[in-house]
Amino acid sequence: MATRIAGTAIECEIGHLRHAHSTPIVTTCYLNVDGAQRPRREDYLAAFAVLAQQARNAEIEDPELRTALDANMTLLARWLEERFERSRTRGLVMVCCSLDSWFHAMPVTIAVEDQLTWGRSPHLLQLEAILARAKRLGVALVDHEKMRFFEYHLGELSESSALFEGALPHRDRQHGWNVSSSPSGSGDAAAQWASAGTHVDRRELATEERHLTRCAAALANHVDEHPVDHLILGGPTPEPERLERLLPTRYRSRVVGFLPVRVTAPLEDIQAAVSAIEPDVERRDDEATLSVLATASGSGLAIRGLKPVFAALSEGRVEQLIISTQVESRPGALCTSCQALSLPRLNCPVCGADTTPVDDVVEEAVEQAAHGGECRFVRGELLDADDGVAAIVRY
Ligand SMILES: [Zn+2]
Repeated sequence: MATRIAGTAIECEIGHLRHAHSTPIVTTCYLNVDGAQRPRREDYLAAFAVLAQQARNAEIEDPELRTALDANMTLLARWLEERFERSRTRGLVMVCCSLDSWFHAMPVTIAVEDQLTWGRSPHLLQLEAILARAKRLGVALVDHEKMRFFEYHLGELSESSALFEGALPHRDRQHGWNVSSSPSGSGDAAAQWASAGTHVDRRELATEERHLTRCAAALANHVDEHPVDHLILGGPTPEPERLERLLPTRYRSRVVGFLPVRVTAPLEDIQAAVSAIEPDVERRDDEATLSVLATASGSGLAIRGLKPVFAALSEGRVEQLIISTQVESRPGALCTSCQALSLPRLNCPVCGADTTPVDDVVEEAVEQAAHGGECRFVRGELLDADDGVAAIVRY
């Protein structure tokens, strides 16, 4: 049985998936098997049938190639029918080459979009986009006496530090504050947290303030050592908000959401709550990337469309390549001399040397951009650019 693959493992897997041929007979299939969207087995089998139909309808003249691709589809269908166990898998990546009896399945806990391609090597762009978009989230759950910290990456939640216990022996959460002394109205830091009209034990509030200050320091130290892209805080009101205010500025600005879960909630409840706000986090990231692109446009440093991007790449001017997650893979050419990319053609548009065909010129562009700059993937419909490709250039 196949096992689920987590983040760093996917990076390793991408390395294992290199399998090249001189002819395009390696088939890659991405299948959405998310139980939330396709609850029954028949649902994802039906989706696979649609992809298989696409393969059958494809115009392929070479009879040998046709036979090889049909055999690939049979191999994929059989594995899916007979071997696949969904468990918590949400996405399935299957790669095969029947000619070499080579088959590889990678179940992942993140969503993928249905896609079927064939070429000389596996089509890994969607997987790379998923990896690039998956942010590492730090999740801190805090109440008046405890803090737990988790990391969430690629759909997996793991607890990364032990329960952090403070000391508040007199507090009974069921009955609210244990009250005795004066009303809060003096404006001091501790009393401002008490609700209106509540009498507050100042020593208790001071103890709680110390606890949250220690939590904030522990959290900052932990994130210093184990960096995350964003922070999510959770627990009963008002402790998470108080914790946020006590964080150093560099981390306060990374707080992107609050979770309404108990500190002692089971792991699966916390994971479900984080998954629920993950789309919001992705949308914010996309908006930030597009805002940088818009600013670059204003300064004349943005280009849109494959051809201008190829030209900028060959001149080493690309600082950030921005790709739509819905970008279609398309064949192209790579210059054997200067490595310039182009749409299919025999001679390089830059230096005139011979070119060699590539299965997916967008994937090649991503690899080239990664050498001198960075690559961002944004959700498809958000990127207003020809071919779903844009770039920010250095000059
Ligand atoms: Zn060239």
